[in-house]
Amino acid sequence: MHFWVPSYRYGLLDRLHSGEKVVVAEGYLFNFERRGYLQAGPFVPTVVLDHPELVRQLHEEFVRAGSDVVQALTYYTHREKMALVDREIDLERINRDALRIAKGVAEKSNTLLAGNICNTSLHDFEDPAVREKVKHMFKEQIELAVEEGVDYIIAETFTTLAEAMLAVEAIKGYGKGIPSVVTITAHLHDDEQKRKLTVDNVEITEAIKKLESAGADVVGLNCANGPDTILSYMELIKNSGVKVPLACVPVPYRTTPKEPTFMLLTDPVTGEFVFPTNLDCALCTRDDIYKFGRRCDELGISYIGLCCGNAAAYTRTLCESIGRKPPASKYSPRMEVHCLFGKDERVFKNHSKQSLENIVARKGKI
Ligand SMILES: [Zn+2]
Repeated sequence: MHFWVPSYRYGLLDRLHSGEKVVVAEGYLFNFERRGYLQAGPFVPTVVLDHPELVRQLHEEFVRAGSDVVQALTYYTHREKMALVDREIDLERINRDALRIAKGVAEKSNTLLAGNICNTSLHDFEDPAVREKVKHMFKEQIELAVEEGVDYIIAETFTTLAEAMLAVEAIKGYGKGIPSVVTITAHLHDDEQKRKLTVDNVEITEAIKKLESAGADVVGLNCANGPDTILSYMELIKNSGVKVPLACVPVPYRTTPKEPTFMLLTDPVTGEFVFPTNLDCALCTRDDIYKFGRRCDELGISYIGLCCGNAAAYTRTLCESIGRKPPASKYSPRMEVHCLFGKDERVFKNHSKQSLENIVARKGKI
């Protein structure tokens, strides 16, 4: 078995422009929430300060599963969120610690180090005072990320074009020339012509083109939508003539045309909304993720990944869908030696065909 490893460390844009794909494992917040180290609701990653060893370990796990990127866990460590959990005083420390933990793993594994900014939870971006406040929050995090030596900045989960544009402006202003991946989270609604609009009423392909024109290096969508939903929007974006590389980073949940975001998903048994702590009933299968990776390949989407809900097994599957074998593929399934389903003579000799069929109740299919 040969394992896929990057041949040498070179930049995000070098890779994308030379036709290479970049896989990014996201989904840190939900992962730590499930494991009991982060609180649903605020979703502020204080685990960086409380259990840095676990953050390092999850970075390593995602890299082993094939992520080309170590994304510093600075999502929701901006001033507004830190104030919400009474930890504003720790803002610089949590950002620097998260960046340094990620950097240690990126350097050791020869992967890209990404800084991260996101939606600020503020609204009314027409108001100059709000715009200034948002820009200042971005500036604080971008400057720290640049000081700590990131390769690029991920700016993500903006529901409005207005806030995403402020992020591009801030990265251009304070990022000292480092590249950006800027993604909108598609909480879209239809207008009378059934066009898909962002929360601030901009048609989605126009919104993406505006980010491109403003200087974002990679543009696209992340979070909230599952693979099928996000791909339906990505096809519109792909056909709209955007020139820069496209990013597509869905959540691994089975959203539908009727329930297009994970915030709208309902439990098929109870009919209750499931966000955020009962989403388990809507998780994608690994086959869903494989199909998603294949479809991205066909569409020519080169920056791919998985967001909230992601786990190492999904990232490994995504990598395998594009022909890679990351180190974690050493333990990819080998069902020929399974005690019931195995066809290897060493295990099969222990079963009569009849007993096997009785156990797994798949008569005629074994
Ligand atoms: Zn997400």
